[in-house]
Amino acid sequence: MQSSHEFLVLVLDSITEHIVVIDETGDIQFVNQSWSAFGNNNACVIGDNWEHENYLSECDKASAMGDEFGTKAGTGIRTVIENRESFFDFEYPCHSPSEKRWFMMRVTPFQVADQKYFVISHQNITKRKLAEEDVSNLAKIDGLTDISNRRAFDEFFHKEWSRCCRLKKPISLAMVDLDHFKLLNDDYGHQSGDECLVKMGRLLKEFANRPGDMCARYGGEEFVLVWGDTSLAQAKQLCNRLLKNIIDLNIQNQNSPIKNCLTASIGLAEIIPDQGNEAKELITKADRMLYRAKDSGRNRVES
Ligand code: GH3
Ligand code: MG
Ligand code: MG
Repeated sequence: MQSSHEFLVLVLDSITEHIVVIDETGDIQFVNQSWSAFGNNNACVIGDNWEHENYLSECDKASAMGDEFGTKAGTGIRTVIENRESFFDFEYPCHSPSEKRWFMMRVTPFQVADQKYFVISHQNITKRKLAEEDVSNLAKIDGLTDISNRRAFDEFFHKEWSRCCRLKKPISLAMVDLDHFKLLNDDYGHQSGDECLVKMGRLLKEFANRPGDMCARYGGEEFVLVWGDTSLAQAKQLCNRLLKNIIDLNIQNQNSPIKNCLTASIGLAEIIPDQGNEAKELITKADRMLYRAKDSGRNRVES
């Protein structure tokens, strides 16, 4: 029969959570097997030599080097030690070069006779985080065309606007609306219309390659392209190439008065963002240009 101490160690070693027990000063009193294994595999500062380490000092050292985990963990552990909170937990990323990983750290106090101890556990929550990421990514994709939807566009556009504002760089935006798409639907059926939108999505992806670029379905048969750090002249070239590529798709639209195949009209605008203008101005400008492109004969870009 084992002593109760041995028994407890066996139990703690069988747990997959990484567990450390510290005293009120932060000195490590115990680590379970899973903690040691994790430390060894991840070049953790607290490895085999845990008997001589102080968990709080390690957090402070990491914090001084700019590590956000160190700052948050150190602060959180102290709130429990100083009895300002009954427990503390927080979720943090801990990605390795080969895989994404997240953990949840939790600090809980316990007392043996007069001595206070604190259990710090690190639970791997990667599965849940990946599932959350999938859901969040799905919510940003247009189900038909597989490109970003309007919600994702709004989010991206505002981030890119701020980035270009900081860098004092121009940002260009193109509103792309298919010409006489209603006729295409009427003549070839809604299913063919859908297939055409899918092809458009695929084509637009080729026009949004850099991190500051994005294409999105703005609604119905209207698409939007954002190009960060891109001048009007550069954007105009891209738009003309896009118009040509749309014609090259050779999607029949026999009753269109423009051409017997699918064409589009583009409204293009450029702004150098600063404190004096707003992101929505760029959209309004591009929208106005789109009307002009429609009014002046379609199958063209106006800027
Ligand atoms: P214009 O050149 O002035 O833009 O003419 P248009 O016919 O393209 O414009 P209008 O706004 O009159 O019609 C847009 C059409 O796009 C009508 C609508 O049924 C169709 N549409 C919108 N979303 C979808 C979709 O998801 N699938 C299909 N197949 N058609 C769609
Ligand atoms: Mg249209
Ligand atoms: Mg439209």
